[in-house]
Amino acid sequence: MGMGKTNGVSKHEIPSDIPAEAHPLSEEPSKIASNINYHAQFSPHFSPLKFEPEQAFYATAESARDRLIKQWNETYLHFHKSDPKQTYYLSMEYLQGRALTNAIGNLNIQDAYADALNKLGHQLEEIVEQEKDAALGNGGLGRLASCFLDSMATLNLPAWGYGLRYRYGLFKQRITKDGQTELPEDWLEKFSPWEIVRHDVVFPVRFFGHVQINPDGSREWVDGEVIQALAYDVPIPGYKTKNTISLRLWEAKACAEDFNLFQFNDGQYESSLQLHSSAQQICAVLYPGDTTENGKLLRLKQQFFLCSASLQDIIFRFKQRKDGNIPRQWSEFPSKVAVQLNDTHPTLAIPELMRLLMDNEGLGWDEAWDVTTRAIAYTNHTVLPEALEKWSQSVMWKLLPRHMEIITEIDKRFVEIVCSTRPDLEDKINSMSILDNNPQKPVVRMANLCVVSSHTVNGVAQLHSDILKADLFANYVSIWPTKFQNKTNGITPRRWLRFCNPELSNIITKWLRTDEWVTNLDLLVNLRKFADNEDLQSEWASAKMAKKQRLAKYILDVTGVSIDPNSLFDIQIKRIHEYKRQLLNILGAVYRYKKLKEMSPEDRAKTTPRTIMIGGKAFATYTNAIRIVKLVNDVGAVVNTDPEVNSYLKVVFVPNYNVSVAEVLIPGSELSQHISTAGMEASGTSNMKFSLNGCLIIGTLDGANVEIREEIGADNFFLFGATADEVPKLRKDRENGLFKPDPRFEEAKQFIRSGAFGTYDYNPLLESLESNTGYGRGDYFLVGHDFPSYMDAQAKVDEAYKDKKKWLKMSILSTAGSGKFSSDRTISQYAKEIWNIEACPVPFKRG
Ligand SMILES: *Cc1c(COP(=O)(O)O)cnc(C)c1O
Repeated sequence: MGMGKTNGVSKHEIPSDIPAEAHPLSEEPSKIASNINYHAQFSPHFSPLKFEPEQAFYATAESARDRLIKQWNETYLHFHKSDPKQTYYLSMEYLQGRALTNAIGNLNIQDAYADALNKLGHQLEEIVEQEKDAALGNGGLGRLASCFLDSMATLNLPAWGYGLRYRYGLFKQRITKDGQTELPEDWLEKFSPWEIVRHDVVFPVRFFGHVQINPDGSREWVDGEVIQALAYDVPIPGYKTKNTISLRLWEAKACAEDFNLFQFNDGQYESSLQLHSSAQQICAVLYPGDTTENGKLLRLKQQFFLCSASLQDIIFRFKQRKDGNIPRQWSEFPSKVAVQLNDTHPTLAIPELMRLLMDNEGLGWDEAWDVTTRAIAYTNHTVLPEALEKWSQSVMWKLLPRHMEIITEIDKRFVEIVCSTRPDLEDKINSMSILDNNPQKPVVRMANLCVVSSHTVNGVAQLHSDILKADLFANYVSIWPTKFQNKTNGITPRRWLRFCNPELSNIITKWLRTDEWVTNLDLLVNLRKFADNEDLQSEWASAKMAKKQRLAKYILDVTGVSIDPNSLFDIQIKRIHEYKRQLLNILGAVYRYKKLKEMSPEDRAKTTPRTIMIGGKAFATYTNAIRIVKLVNDVGAVVNTDPEVNSYLKVVFVPNYNVSVAEVLIPGSELSQHISTAGMEASGTSNMKFSLNGCLIIGTLDGANVEIREEIGADNFFLFGATADEVPKLRKDRENGLFKPDPRFEEAKQFIRSGAFGTYDYNPLLESLESNTGYGRGDYFLVGHDFPSYMDAQAKVDEAYKDKKKWLKMSILSTAGSGKFSSDRTISQYAKEIWNIEACPVPFKRG
C-alpha cells in the first residue's frame, strides 16, 4: 500500500501525534501541520488514509489558501470602504504557472511550511512539484499579465484581473522522433485548490439576436442565445503585504431553465442540452483553431464573453459604492474605473461599455462616449500584420448586431471629424478608419477601434513604441500627439529570482546586506562595485553550478540525454516562430557540429564545450514551426550520439515549455538567445528573466534587448545582426537579387540537405531561406543576412567563456543591471501615467 516506514515515521500516513485541527492563521509549524491534517481529513478529495505527495499537496495548498482568503476579504472590504479608483486588467491569457511556492513565499511563511511538512513525513520541494501549471496563456503576453498581477498586489494597488477559465489551457507538447504532438492540458482534471467559485456573481451574456427599436426611440438588443457567466476567483497575494487581490475568471454555463426536460424525456438528448453544449464550447480551450468559420465565430464569442461579463461586474461594483443614498453620477465613472486592454483581444469592451451605458443606463451618445474614452486604455503588443486582428463584418453583424451599429457610428463620427478638420489626412482616411469596407472582404480593424476609442495607447518597449509612432499609428499621432506612451515590460523579481533561484538570492542579500531588493530591484546596481571581488565571484560560480546540476538532472529525467554541467549552457526557450529565428540557432549548431567533425582531436579539445537547449511550443497549424521542432530533434539525435563530438556539443529539445520548466532552465543558464529579426519582437520578457539570473545574452537590437544592453553595458552583451531601420532595405535588396550569401550559411544548409540528420524532407523549410521561388518567402526574416555576424558573435562567446573570471564579472554585471526590468517599475508607471490610481494598503493591525 506504499506505507513504507523511514526512521519509524510512516512516510505516507499522517503521524498520530499530529491532530487534525483548523488553525487557519497560525505561523507555527506544528499548528500548520495540524491545519494541513485538518484539510486532509475534513475537506477530503480522496479516500481516507492516503497521504501520498499528491494528497499532501492539495491539503497544503488548502491550508495556505485559508490565510489568503482572510487577507483577500480584508483587502476588498478595505477597498470598498476607501472607495479608491480601481484598475481592471482585461486579458484573454494568464500564464500563472504553479501557485504554492509563490503563495507561501509572498506570505513569508516558507520555512514554517517546510517544517510542518517535515513533521508530516514530506519534503516541501517534492510537494510543490505535484502542482499542475495553470496554463491559461500562450506565451509572453499571458505571462506579462501574471507578472503584472503580482506587482499590482505587491504595490497595494486597487486592481482586478479578468480572464476566462479555460477547461483545457494551451495544449501539452509531447516530443517523439516524429517531432511535436499536441495533447490536451488538463489542469482541472482533478481540481484547482486556488479557485473559489462565487455562486452569487453571475451575469447573462447574449449572442446573436437582433436590435429592437422601442416606442421611445431607444434601441435594445433582444433574443438570440443567452449564456451565464459565473465568476471563479483566484487569490493573488502581494509580497510581504496584507493586500491580496483577485484574478476573476469567467466560466460559461447554461442554467437549469435552459435544460429542455420535454425534449430530454422525448429522447432528444442532444437538443435538450443544446445551450449547455454551446456554453461548454466557450471555455473549452484557449485559441481554438480559426481556419474554419465556426472556429472564428467561437473565438469572437470568447472575446465578447470576457468583455461583457467583466464590464457588467465593473458597473455593478461602481453602482454599489455610493455616498449614503445618493447614486453615483456616470460622469464619475472614469475617476473610479480604469480599464486596460491587453492587446486587441478585449476590444469589444469598447462597444459593450457604450451599449451598457446607452441601452441599459439611458445615457446619450456624447455622455457615453465621454465616459468610455476616459476609462479605456489599450496596450499594443505586436506590429506583425498577421497578428493585427480583423473580424469579418458579416460575422460581427450576425453575432453582435447592436455592437456593429455602435462601431459603425464611432467610425462615422471619427471619419467626419478627420475630414472636416484635417484635409491633409484625406488620402490616409481609408487606412485609418475602423471599418474596412473593401467589398471583397469587409472587416472591422480592431487595433484602429482601440486607438480611436482609448485615452492612451502604449507600446511595450522603447523601440516598439517608437515604431508604433513612426509607422503603424503614425497618422493618428498627428491627430493625438499625446495619446501614445511607452511602458517597457517587466517581470516579477519574486517568481523569477527570489523563489526560483534561492541560491543566488541569498548571495545577493548577503552582499547587499538587505533583502529589500526583492521589492526595490534598482538596489541590484550596488552589486557593481563587487563585480571583481573574488569571494563574490566564487560564491556566484557555486550558485550557478548548483543550478546547472539541477538542470542537468532535469534534462536527463525528461529527455534521457546526459549533459555536462561543465559545458556552457546555452538556452533559447520561447514560442516557436520564424521571426524569433530558432532556425538561425539550429543552423549555427549544425555549422558548429560540421566544423567539430572536421577538426583534429587536439583542436577539438581546445574548443569551448557547449550544450544548446531549445524549447517552445509550435502552433499545430504553423507548418514551418512544426518543422523547426523536428529539425532540432533530428540534429540532437545525431550530435548527441556521435562519440567523436558529443563531449564538445550537445543539442537538446526541451519538451513542453511552460512556466515551471522556465523556472528550472533560467537559473541554470549561462548564455541565452534573443535573436529575432530586428523590429519584430515587441519587447520579449524572457530576456529580462535570464539577465536577472546572471545569464549573458546573445541578441539583436530588438525589443527590450536594446534597453537591457543599455542598462548592463554594451561590453556585457553579445550583439549581432541588422538593425530595425536597415531591415526594409535589406528585404528590398533581397528581392532584387542583391543578397550575397556567406559560404558558412550555404555550407550549413547543404549539410542538412545532404541527409546528415536523417531522411525527413527539409527542403520546404530550407526553401523559406531562399529567393522568392517555390515555398520561399525570400528569407523574409533575414536569417541569411544575419548568419555571418551571428557566427562571429558566437565565436566571441566561446572566447569569453574561456576566461572564467571575466565571464563571472559579466554575469554579475548582468544581474546588477537588471533593476529596471522589474514589473514593479512597469506597473508603477501604468498606475501613475495611464490609470491615475494610488496605493490602497490594508493596514497591519498590531497585537
Ligand atoms: C517569459 C515567458 C515567455 C515569454 O518569452 P519570450 O522569450 O519573451 O518570448 C513565454 N513563455 C513562458 C512560459 C514564459 O515564462
